[in-house]
Amino acid sequence: MKMKKLTALLLASLTALAMTACGGTPAAGDNAGSADNSSAESGAEGSSAEDSSPEDNDSSEESAAGEGSSEGNDGSAEGEGTEASGEAEGSEAPPAESFTTAVEGKLTMATNAAFPPYEYVEGGQIAGIDAEIAAAIAGKLGLELQIDDMEFDSITEAVKGGKADIGLAGMTITPDRQEEVDFTVSYATGVQVIIVKEDSAITSVDDLLAEGANHVVGVQRNTTGHLYTTDDIEKAGLGTIDPYSKGAEAVQALKTGKVDCVVIDNEPAKAFVNEVEGLKILDTEYITEDYAAAMSKSNPALYEAVNAALEELIADGTVQGIIDKYITAE
Ligand code: GLN
Repeated sequence: MKMKKLTALLLASLTALAMTACGGTPAAGDNAGSADNSSAESGAEGSSAEDSSPEDNDSSEESAAGEGSSEGNDGSAEGEGTEASGEAEGSEAPPAESFTTAVEGKLTMATNAAFPPYEYVEGGQIAGIDAEIAAAIAGKLGLELQIDDMEFDSITEAVKGGKADIGLAGMTITPDRQEEVDFTVSYATGVQVIIVKEDSAITSVDDLLAEGANHVVGVQRNTTGHLYTTDDIEKAGLGTIDPYSKGAEAVQALKTGKVDCVVIDNEPAKAFVNEVEGLKILDTEYITEDYAAAMSKSNPALYEAVNAALEELIADGTVQGIIDKYITAE
């Protein structure tokens, strides 16, 4: 059911690609424009509503977690920030006055909404795990959430340059990125997996790394899948890497035979494979990694506040509740 939903969402996000490609509005300045950016709000709501049918059994968990997210939802309606921050009882997060954000009163999140179930476009708005977590963080800090959609490799720059307060995009903590940005605590685990055609001769990671191997590997540009395979495969003379700006495009290239496999994060992989006939995910995993929010190194007060809020949301089960709404345990 979830997968069906994701399938529909994927189509939506594919059709939205053209729009989103030019839709990333800079956070600074455009206060009025952000009114249409209640995206996370209704996105979050929409997903829980639609998810409800097969999962009534975890609805109690959902609503427990939902407190955090609906709080965030409410938080994005102006004026209710007080209520939201009031709920963060005993919060270690400093009061809003002690930190500055890209746009006053708002938490601006940079993301790439083509990464289901973490972020995707649904009904013209951005929904998903990261959107809900950001909404919950914003709620705790008494801020309104604004989400700016952009290419994945623009997120770090947006955060570094102070255009966005937080980069939340299923982003893996890596040493190189840590030189550019500060990462919060990790809120989820990701696994790089390999997608192949059902009848592929590639059956494991070892086949890609074997002596004499010569495969064309599709990846999403500047993701960890791209970085690792470039080192392990291309630089080792074991094949070539073909980067695409969206994971779904790499998967299409696999379908049409332009690449032999795709290396990408497991959750979007499941969504993409579910959407395209004749593909499968190999059992062997490429690597396991930690997702965290990226923040500027030059705004430590905001970093502390966001990190503390996220730690609380992890400790009280809100984050797990959000993840469980989108990812069915296997
Ligand atoms: N986890 C991967 C990375 O950080 C992919 C993230 C993404 O495509 N949104 O590079």
